[in-house]
Amino acid sequence: MEELIRKITDLIRNSQKVIVFTGAGVSTESGIPDFRSPGGVWQKYNPEDFYYQKFISSEESREKYWQMSREFYEPLKNAQPNAAHQAVAELEKMGKLDCVITQNIDNLHQRAGSSPQKVIELHGTAVSVSCLACRKKYTREEIQSWLVRGVKVPQCDACGGILKPDTVSFGQSMPARETEEAFHRARNCDLFIVIGSSLVVQPAASVPLEAKEAGAKLVIINREPTYHDSHADVVIHGSAGEVMSKVLKNLKTS
Ligand code: NAD
Repeated sequence: MEELIRKITDLIRNSQKVIVFTGAGVSTESGIPDFRSPGGVWQKYNPEDFYYQKFISSEESREKYWQMSREFYEPLKNAQPNAAHQAVAELEKMGKLDCVITQNIDNLHQRAGSSPQKVIELHGTAVSVSCLACRKKYTREEIQSWLVRGVKVPQCDACGGILKPDTVSFGQSMPARETEEAFHRARNCDLFIVIGSSLVVQPAASVPLEAKEAGAKLVIINREPTYHDSHADVVIHGSAGEVMSKVLKNLKTS
């Protein structure tokens, strides 16, 4: 492991434009469960209940969705950024970071100190909610207080429209600007580091390969093997916080 960490440190030293690409695994050490590990969200809820088409067409699906969302929001709100988020913010301070591309909706990169304009959120954010009809925006915090008060399916107080968190659901299209920017930046970076993603959710999982095909070095840090390990220059099967804090320590000391 130490030898692999040294390799990652050298790759960062020799790079000018580093992209960090994160998935749910970067936030499990902050107490937010990922989707696919044991104890993850999909062991408790059926993803088929949360397809966008179901959400917009059925009041019953919206009720199930908000029940899940109400529960998921509490650990998300109380979570603190961990050593991996902090190391990514440090890379920006060192002038190494081109951007963070994240599949996460938890806002923890920004809370760790990454500049919001450097964080590309491919799957939206859980900190706000919009009306699908008139686009009125709410904080997720406000909607949580409605849910806690007993509202089962929140509706827009301006027009009665359907409210939905600003996250990208299954069956919903990815945000065009962010997706385009992620692929564009991937083609122009010199080092691409994946942290805590199973690399199965498309099209996000193709972004690392885009970088590799355009000539960047590819590093994957994940607890388990991923589909793209065979394409990577360095693979570490370890914990995001431990690996990234060691990488940062090496960068600062030697
Ligand atoms: P995933 O659940 O498919 O994969 C997470 C990967 O991270 C797994 O392979 C797991 O082995 C690994 N992992 C877990 N803890 C780790 C740790 N401490 N260190 C290193 N690796 C660790 O997640 P994904 O690839 O992000 O895709 C699932 C989708 O779920 C994404 O669209 C994401 O938006 C969403 N999601 C987000 C959050 C969040 O915002 N924190 C949480 C759950 C799911």
